[in-house]
Amino acid sequence: MSYLNELYQEVILDHNKRPRNFGELEQANRHADGYNPLCGDRVTVFLKVQADVVEDIRFKGVGCAISTASASLMTEALKGKTIAEVVAVFARFHSVVTGRSTDTSDLGKLAVFQGVSEYPVRVKCATLAWHTLQAALDGKADTVSTEQATD
Ligand code: ZN
Repeated sequence: MSYLNELYQEVILDHNKRPRNFGELEQANRHADGYNPLCGDRVTVFLKVQADVVEDIRFKGVGCAISTASASLMTEALKGKTIAEVVAVFARFHSVVTGRSTDTSDLGKLAVFQGVSEYPVRVKCATLAWHTLQAALDGKADTVSTEQATD
């Protein structure tokens, strides 16, 4: 992960080692599975959505450090947010990790993934949990593959 600065590496390694909000969510009313065939990352995102608010969010899965840390930081960032806020954060995160924007000022800890923008394979790792989250919100039943996503 030499493409990430040291502080960013530290955050990612910490979240990979001790993922937050990890495990199934019994009260979930939305969930979806995601798969990134380029790296082999798998993730399931569970949501409890009540009156347009993400009351709880958890995930489980097996993958590389980037995919696990991304899912972990995503759950931390989105708990308690409204659906509209979630969509806005995803759009901001997506534009930063794909290199369309370099402004990370409103992303908080999610900014640690900015360094992946020059590595298309790693972009898929970083966005897998988010695409899966979107599928869960859209109520899609099939497994989302990053190969079907544009990036
Ligand atoms: Zn990966």
